[in-house]
Amino acid sequence: MTTESTAGVSARERVRHPLTMRSLVVTRTLDIAPTLRRITLSGDDLHGFVSQGPEDHVKVFFPDPATGTVTLPVRDEFGRPVPGAAPVISRDYTPAEFRPGTAGDAPELDLDFVLHGDNGPASAWAARAGTGSTLIIGGPRGSQLPPTGISRLVLVADETGFPAAARWLRATPDAVDVRLILAADPDLTDTYFTTAGGNVSITVVPPRSDELEAAVRMISESDVATYVWAGAEATSLIPVRRYLRRELGLHPAALNISGYWKRGVVALDHHAPLDPEDPEN
Ligand SMILES: Cc1cc2nc3c(=O)[nH]c(=O)nc-3n(C[C@H](O)[C@H](O)[C@H](O)COP(=O)(O)OP(=O)(O)OC[C@H]3O[C@@H](n4cnc5c(N)ncnc54)[C@H](O)[C@@H]3O)c2cc1C
Repeated sequence: MTTESTAGVSARERVRHPLTMRSLVVTRTLDIAPTLRRITLSGDDLHGFVSQGPEDHVKVFFPDPATGTVTLPVRDEFGRPVPGAAPVISRDYTPAEFRPGTAGDAPELDLDFVLHGDNGPASAWAARAGTGSTLIIGGPRGSQLPPTGISRLVLVADETGFPAAARWLRATPDAVDVRLILAADPDLTDTYFTTAGGNVSITVVPPRSDELEAAVRMISESDVATYVWAGAEATSLIPVRRYLRRELGLHPAALNISGYWKRGVVALDHHAPLDPEDPEN
């Protein structure tokens, strides 16, 4: 049992954004790797798009693979969703990069999709999308700004967390010691994280939970102002979270550990508790 360490990390500032739905068009695609496809979206609806937090997400609405129809949520006068006749198929994606556009240039938004097969409507859509395909997104509804006053940042991600991890790297001052722990194919990590700065150490492990936990256990001192962000397969993050909270004693304000998908689960709700044994999360 360790004592809890706050080590100077204070709660991150939250910013709310009005919920806006946007109809967008695919202007190009880039296959970063056979399993990762960048889809660039554009359209007048992107004017006013704001995403200030590195792990922000948008809700993306996909066509029903059986009918090809996109169903949007219906809301009552208080903005609460009401059930409709057809199911709403939506998934969460990270705004990998937003370019607001200058005079003459339209705004553009990149979303990076993991292609894991046709067993999910999002992956199936992304595998077939091309110039002229359309997509509706909602949000982000809010942003958590990066923490201030930290001296060490630990980022843990599989491919689904790469866009957020890359945003964290861009948002973090050079003076911060960054440990980037990635569960993915090394060829892909080299291609994706080409511009990691001098103060970033990278550990790559195969996408298996025990090795991810072992890599995180290399973070052993709790007396430096450390913030940990993680976005990856949910089950693989349970032992990571237990180590950081129970053994290293990091304060809840110093962590954001989020299951981005879960093996065998359709449309994982990332607000659901990650660790069923821990009432705090
Ligand atoms: C905040 C947040 C941000 C996210 N950002 C991104 C992002 O930028 N890019 C991205 O690719 N994903 C991202 N994800 C993860 C993405 O939302 C899920 O992977 C989602 O389940 C994909 O939907 P789907 O329709 O393809 O599969 P689903 O219909 O949800 O699932 C069908 C089957 O596929 C499996 N599955 C789902 N995702 C994967 C995967 N990645 N690899 C292998 N099997 C899988 C499920 O376990 C299930 O068995 C994010 C998730 C969250 C919570």
